[in-house]
Amino acid sequence: MTTKMQTAQISKPGGEWELVECHIPEPGPGQVRVKVEACGICHSDMLVKEGLWPGLQYPRVPGHEVAGHIDAVGDNVRVWRQGQRVGVGWHGGHCFVCAQCRRGDFGPCTYTLRINITGSPTNRHRGKKV
Ligand SMILES: [Zn+2]
Ligand SMILES: [Zn+2]
Repeated sequence: MTTKMQTAQISKPGGEWELVECHIPEPGPGQVRVKVEACGICHSDMLVKEGLWPGLQYPRVPGHEVAGHIDAVGDNVRVWRQGQRVGVGWHGGHCFVCAQCRRGDFGPCTYTLRINITGSPTNRHRGKKV
C-alpha cells in the first residue's frame, strides 16, 4: 500500500507553491480519510497563501472544497464507509455552543472560524520537496 502522497504546499506566508511528498495520515476516531480527486481553489486559499488569515502555522496545504472517495475510516464512524463518493466544503463543523450557533447561524461559528475550516486550520502536512 502507498504510504506517501504528493501535495502542493505553502511553506511560509507569501511563499510560492511547492510540490512536496508527505506521509498519508491515518484517520483518527470519528474521522474519515478522503482520497481527493478534485479540489477548488478560492479567495480563502489566497488569504492562506499570502499569510492574511490570522494565526495560521505553516507549512500549509490550501484547498478546502474537494470531491473524492473515502479510502479509510477511523474508529467510531458509523455512517460513512470506505468507497463512498463524498464532497467536502468550507464548513468543517460547528460547536452548537457559541452565540452564533445558539442563534442557528452556524456559518460564522466561533469554533469553525478558529479551528475547523476544512483546509485552513486543519490542513497541515509536513512534506519534502519533490
Ligand atoms: Zn472557498
Ligand atoms: Zn458555534
